[in-house]
Amino acid sequence: LPEYAFIGRSNVGKSSLINMLTDRKSLAKTSGRPGKTQLINHFVINDNWYLVDLPGYGYARVSKSSKKKFQQFITNYFEQRQQLLSAFVLVDIRHKPQPIDLEFMQYLGESGIPFAIIFTKADKLKPKAIERHVDDYCQVLLKTWEELPPYFVTSSSKGIGKDAVLDFIGATNDEIENLKSN
Ligand code: GDP
Repeated sequence: LPEYAFIGRSNVGKSSLINMLTDRKSLAKTSGRPGKTQLINHFVINDNWYLVDLPGYGYARVSKSSKKKFQQFITNYFEQRQQLLSAFVLVDIRHKPQPIDLEFMQYLGESGIPFAIIFTKADKLKPKAIERHVDDYCQVLLKTWEELPPYFVTSSSKGIGKDAVLDFIGATNDEIENLKSN
């Protein structure tokens, strides 16, 4: 089955987003405490794709060696996944582009892994500010990328962006099916 991986800094709102996408409040547990999602979790959605919940990165208070271990873990995952159609990199819409996120996108690009950006917690900003923050983010991306990745503005607490993300996944699955049958 095709799979889609969700990743981002700890506390970015990944568990909440996964709950929103899957409609199952108990599926991925949310917590205000960073670092709770430690291992990879797979969820089968609609019997036709896997949602892969990767651990959050960028904890402030972990040792260098555990950071290294974590990097290795993530790298292993991305190197082995044949079925991975796209990664979703989650970023908090309130924040300026963070080096760790930009570096991670760079890594995905260099590894030939398609990715999309999911801006989280959009309910925390007014519409005008959302627009400005997204524009600013895109400007930074365009300094290193020729093309912008697909991106989505979401709020798990207000249920914003769910259909857009699921439609994107559905369309990507269809594309692959068509390629296979041709
Ligand atoms: P994770 O560590 O990336 O899995 O993040 P969580 O989903 O556990 O969320 C971290 C914190 O952000 C929690 O306190 C959530 O209630 C809060 N949060 C997550 N998504 C949203 C959102 O869309 N809007 C708001 N206002 N808060 C959110």
